[in-house]
Amino acid sequence: MASDPRPVLPPLREVIAAYGLQASKALGQNFLLDEQLLDRIAAIPGPLKDQPAFEVGPGPGGLTRAILRAGARLVAVERDDRCLPALAELSDSFPGQLRIISGDAMQVDAQAEAGTGAHIIANLPYNVGTALLVGWLSAPWEPLPWWSSLTLMFQMEVAERIVAKPGGDHYGRLAVLSQWRSEARIAMKVHRSAFTPPPKVMSAVVHITPKPSPKGVELKQLERLTAAAFGQRRKMLRQSLKSVPGALDALGQIGIDSQRRAETVSVEEFVALARLMSERS
Ligand code: SAM
Repeated sequence: MASDPRPVLPPLREVIAAYGLQASKALGQNFLLDEQLLDRIAAIPGPLKDQPAFEVGPGPGGLTRAILRAGARLVAVERDDRCLPALAELSDSFPGQLRIISGDAMQVDAQAEAGTGAHIIANLPYNVGTALLVGWLSAPWEPLPWWSSLTLMFQMEVAERIVAKPGGDHYGRLAVLSQWRSEARIAMKVHRSAFTPPPKVMSAVVHITPKPSPKGVELKQLERLTAAAFGQRRKMLRQSLKSVPGALDALGQIGIDSQRRAETVSVEEFVALARLMSERS
């Protein structure tokens, strides 16, 4: 039988103890230590052998190891300098595969660092998770964004807002932004007990793959519409969209009843409205 070429690594609990990586609440640290679970998360984007990848917040390196075992060329950005020695050791175990950037993911140019086509994979710190997602979803799309896929752990409530369909309380701006030119699905639910320390709420891994952008629609226009519509989500569209120039005319032209509320308007309907308004502006 061929021997397993993958390096033998110390258990993550030992890494945490050896480097004194007690979880910091301020940095949103909830670590995943179950290597089988981590390998399953790293499998969600599909084969990673020789693919570029980008990770936010490797921490003690659990998900990082799993991504490296899958064969990716990984750039990871970590804000907590305490983790750097453990990550340097991990880098030695996977020669040439891992580059660590010490810094704030909100300030790093991920495309320049990880390269076009990178798969973004992360167990995100809850305090910057949504802002990072919005940044990736707002990247130039020509006809696709620079990244190939997003595989991201969020608190369940945020995951539900990303994949929500019309008709419920979760459906809003984040759902439209996540779905108008991407497929977004919950790939895995993760029980709070899988984390050290366990957070108060359940989590889920969301998998997002980009599609070509619908023609003739400007993101700016779509955002103006959804900001106004969901800003007053209990009001009828004829009231909530009053402040957006051309929106009421566009509603009439497409045949959307202005007595409806934002949460009943499908992503396709928002796109059609934004297209008509982009054409006229
Ligand atoms: N990837 C590890 C895992 O799955 O066990 C740790 C995930 S933990 C939820 C979030 C990680 O993000 C922590 O290591 C934390 O230090 C790091 N972090 C927090 N804010 C950050 C930021 N703005 N930029 C980069 N990393 C950050």
